[in-house]
Amino acid sequence: MAPRKTAKPKVTKCPDCDGTGETTESVRVGARKGRLTDYRQNAMCITCWGSGEIPADD
Ligand SMILES: [Zn+2]
Repeated sequence: MAPRKTAKPKVTKCPDCDGTGETTESVRVGARKGRLTDYRQNAMCITCWGSGEIPADD
């Protein structure tokens, strides 16, 4: 019998999206000045893939 690991589902809140699963990216327009606009688009957080949680490594 293999010893069972008592693997707790360790997760921590994703720091990139603060647990929301989405990131808000500022959209830059104007190649010359690259200024920021007020317009922002939501994108799925690629750190946690939208789950808002990431596995916690020891
Ligand atoms: Zn995230």
